[in-house]
Amino acid sequence: MSVIAKRPFSDEEAAFEYLERTLWPDGPVCPHCGTIGRATKLGGRKGDGKRQARLGLWKCNERECRKQFTVKVGTVFEHGRIPLHKMLQAVYLLCCSKKGCSSHQLHRILQITYKSAWFLSHRIREAMRSGHLTPLGGLGKIVEADETTSGWQEGQPKQLKQGGGWQNRNVVLTLVERGGEARSFHVDGTTLGTLLPIIRHNIDRETTVMTDAASWYKNLKWHAGFAAHHSVHHESEEYVRYAPGADIHTNTVEGYYSIFKRGMKGIYQHCGEKHLHRYLAEFDFRYSNRVALGIDDVERYDRALRGMVGKRLTYRAADC
Ligand SMILES: [Zn+2]
Repeated sequence: MSVIAKRPFSDEEAAFEYLERTLWPDGPVCPHCGTIGRATKLGGRKGDGKRQARLGLWKCNERECRKQFTVKVGTVFEHGRIPLHKMLQAVYLLCCSKKGCSSHQLHRILQITYKSAWFLSHRIREAMRSGHLTPLGGLGKIVEADETTSGWQEGQPKQLKQGGGWQNRNVVLTLVERGGEARSFHVDGTTLGTLLPIIRHNIDRETTVMTDAASWYKNLKWHAGFAAHHSVHHESEEYVRYAPGADIHTNTVEGYYSIFKRGMKGIYQHCGEKHLHRYLAEFDFRYSNRVALGIDDVERYDRALRGMVGKRLTYRAADC
């Protein structure tokens, strides 16, 4: 927190200026006509301290346009009634707390209603969701894949499965590139038919893939055409197999799950099944923008803010 001037979290005008600097590095961008750097600032305080127009308001100088806008247009902040400086603080708290920050915590810290905090935090999670445009891995790179369970399917009884484990849990598949990003998916179950399309779509063919010895990963190399596929046999207490070039293990993805599970248990006690993918986006975002990759708290926060553009999210009251 010390590196960021604290004013954007307490002063509304400073909050607008911070967001403008972050989203408009080349000058104000008119959302109506797309012109960059040709707008006049209307909002703010005059020399005598009196407000002359709504804070953060700009007017486009393009002859055909002349429309007014603020930096919030087209971002997740656009329709919120919460002051911008509180929304920025919420983004910072979600970006920089390792295990997340619950709606109750946001409600208390920001002094907004619990319901507002809930909506706001889901809008921020949505902005953290990456577009997954390019596949993970590549030549000489390693991606670990694993799956875990989180919470219960809605409206289903808690039942033991034959052969151990619980039925009706939500299943999560996570792919982690060693030294790179994580991508997690809420999936329907652990069958090859469910997992393979996601794995194929999100991992480059030239990659070496590592998994445990679960039956659904059998013949993965053949099915997906990867450079190589290795599995570790956790059931026979094998956790790392030392191999030339790259040790065979899934410790990286398990490290991701240990943070995810501590967060989901300790911070987010209740997570509806239909919102699980947004919590996954939040944990993926923090992991993929972590200190070990040279990204500090401020840079992670700025990246989250840049992700807010074009991600408006509306909820119906029934979703709350
Ligand atoms: Zn314009």
